[in-house]
Amino acid sequence: MGVVNEKPLLILGGGLMGLAIAHELAKRGKQVEVLSRSRREAAGFVAAGMLAPHAEGLQGNLLNLGQSSLQRHSTWIENIETNSKMSCGLKTCGIVVPFESHKDCESYPTYKFGKKLNRNELLQEVPGLSEKWKLGLLFKQDGQIDNRRLLMRALEKACFELGVHFQEGVEVVEIMKDLNKFNGVKIKDINGNINHLKSEEAVLCCGAWSKQIFKTLPIFPVKGQMLSIQGPKQILKRIVFGPGIYLVPRDDGLIIVGATSEPEAGFQTGLTPNGQSELQKGIQSLIPELNQLPHMERWWGFRPCTPDEGPLLGMSSINGLWLATGHHRNGVLLSAITSELIGKSICSTPLSNEEDSLLSHFRWDRF
Ligand SMILES: Cc1cc2nc3c(=O)[nH]c(=O)nc-3n(C[C@H](O)[C@H](O)[C@H](O)COP(=O)(O)OP(=O)(O)OC[C@H]3O[C@@H](n4cnc5c(N)ncnc54)[C@H](O)[C@@H]3O)c2cc1C
Repeated sequence: MGVVNEKPLLILGGGLMGLAIAHELAKRGKQVEVLSRSRREAAGFVAAGMLAPHAEGLQGNLLNLGQSSLQRHSTWIENIETNSKMSCGLKTCGIVVPFESHKDCESYPTYKFGKKLNRNELLQEVPGLSEKWKLGLLFKQDGQIDNRRLLMRALEKACFELGVHFQEGVEVVEIMKDLNKFNGVKIKDINGNINHLKSEEAVLCCGAWSKQIFKTLPIFPVKGQMLSIQGPKQILKRIVFGPGIYLVPRDDGLIIVGATSEPEAGFQTGLTPNGQSELQKGIQSLIPELNQLPHMERWWGFRPCTPDEGPLLGMSSINGLWLATGHHRNGVLLSAITSELIGKSICSTPLSNEEDSLLSHFRWDRF
């Protein structure tokens, strides 16, 4: 039997989307190489890991995409866990959204998907919730993944087990094309050497930085700061999603507190006093007692945002270069559907009418 010596498909960016798509393609028998500038800067390691199409109040095509992804999560995670032999911390724990008035509650975009809770019921779900919250919506179908500690590492391991090649510390500095056909990338290695890596196909997954190598993409960073506090196990059973602040309880009592939304910060790194005090005020407005708990960690990252806050999915204007970027604040939620739809498209596996329609709403040329 002859040796197949095809050039690997390149994944530009080894964050959440890069890993999810590399894993999907490797499962489908493709040779894949991931080019990653820095895994540490990936928003995949920053996110709170909520799977929250309903609690986030998504609307229209983005809600459909989010709901379709949510349905796929248990199978998607099962595959990653099987390939990696690691757990990802998927939990359908439900999310409670509290409101101050009936008017606010009933005008919430996803109102019809939730269970309305009166003040007593709300307190049963979220003990200690401050008095100003009079009622709530429980979205039992929403949940979480422990992306920061488990999912990202499990994805890396699953990719490795399926033969995906990684180049870490390598920056893509230019996309090469021949007429309008993708022809590889110029990469800068850790020694500063520039090489042309040839390939006929790639997926651009550079998150918030995507525009730096593909200038016409409408992507910009939205910085988010986070912190975590340590409580006793089972201190909260549901995620609490208040206006501008959320509390995500992990199984071991760690509570992730997020997140600021700072488009004006650009790529400015680091924590700020204003950002951190916004989070602490947020805790105070939801469950004041939690402000007594010890702080464990503080961190920040950059969401990849587009003008309509929906992702860019499918073939780009350069033939052979696919896009999977711009997932803004819902990338963890959307990773299951993104990897499946992009994986199928690249491998020419027919899409169902529903899948085809979902993809068509997120093409780059809608802007
Ligand atoms: C504070 C915060 C909270 C969030 N909470 C949630 C949540 O609860 N639920 C949810 O669904 N989503 C959440 N998100 C969103 C989610 O994290 C992102 O949508 C998702 O991680 C985007 O994945 P990505 O692969 O596109 O980008 P990233 O995960 O950021 O990965 C991009 C990678 O590309 C690499 N890269 C960039 N440029 C180059 C280059 N030129 N060459 C090589 N490599 C390059 C970077 O080093 C990086 O590793 C949150 C995000 C933030 C910041």
